[in-house]
Amino acid sequence: MQTKNILEAIGKTPLVKINRLFQKQNVEVYAKCEFLNPGGSVKDRIGYQMVLDAQKSGRIKPGDILIEPTSGNTGIGIALAGAVLGYRVIITLPEKMSKEKQVVLAALGAEIIRTPTEAAFDAPESHISIANKLAKELPNAHVLDQYANPSNCDAHYRFTAQEIIDDLGMVPDYLVAGAGTGGTITGIARKFKELKPSCKIIGCDPVGSILGGGTDVGTYQVEGIGYDFFPKALDVSLIDQWIKTTDEPSFKWARRAIREEGFLCGGSSGTALYGVNEIIDHVPSGSKIVVILPDGIRNYMTKMMDNDWLSKLSFKEAVLKNNVYSK
Ligand code: PMP
Repeated sequence: MQTKNILEAIGKTPLVKINRLFQKQNVEVYAKCEFLNPGGSVKDRIGYQMVLDAQKSGRIKPGDILIEPTSGNTGIGIALAGAVLGYRVIITLPEKMSKEKQVVLAALGAEIIRTPTEAAFDAPESHISIANKLAKELPNAHVLDQYANPSNCDAHYRFTAQEIIDDLGMVPDYLVAGAGTGGTITGIARKFKELKPSCKIIGCDPVGSILGGGTDVGTYQVEGIGYDFFPKALDVSLIDQWIKTTDEPSFKWARRAIREEGFLCGGSSGTALYGVNEIIDHVPSGSKIVVILPDGIRNYMTKMMDNDWLSKLSFKEAVLKNNVYSK
């Protein structure tokens, strides 16, 4: 594939059969390997799409400032677009998010403001409020706003979903994915259900988030999924079932996917794989399941990939020692 710049290399990620993680006869599971995008995550797609659409509509022009509140990956997507197309990029990023994401953002030229993780979404010190405040203060500054921007779902409806259908040769019977803004799961689900209403959409959501039910808001270590409010980009009416998850099994499944399938994925991929494991014994024979693996190992080298970090947080089952996981 030859492209005119790196942004045109976003998408067309491989759909790879999972061979070892699940042992259910007559059920096929495929991973959409979004960690293979140029910036390392599914969010490259919407970073680029939001910039393109805003340019097309005349809302932004090169030289303007793009400010985005993000758990990091959308920031990397926008910073990638900013580096290539000539925008100044400012990212507001909760403290919880990995240093690795900050390093990549800085390398792409983005300015970074860290905000308190515990801040409620509407608190004045939250990453969302700070971004909105800055956009009012700085000239020619815009928040593209992944939480409400239609280009978010649209990128997945037009491209991610269509790529899966093309590569599988059909709409799968099940889609399993986590939700942050909800753009990925909503955009793909909308396309799948239009073409095949029987397709079941399974959302995976950490305990401590309200997206998949419950009202208890709390902290957890997996990055990029779950919220204390319902973003506009998430259409919950498309989700047939939610599976609540916790950190330890998420990290264990991510590390198993790396060790057993060679998928160099991140923590929220583990959350989605845990979701697959929860449903796989209950799906009809002959089913095809697609699971989204949103980002990669690079973001978590000093976190999920570090046995000492896992041990300190007592995530014993996720620790890989001498090539075996403790039971
Ligand atoms: N996993 C990771 C690592 C992410 O960064 C994100 C985006 N916040 C998601 C999953 C969820 O994607 P979406 O915002 O499209 O729901």
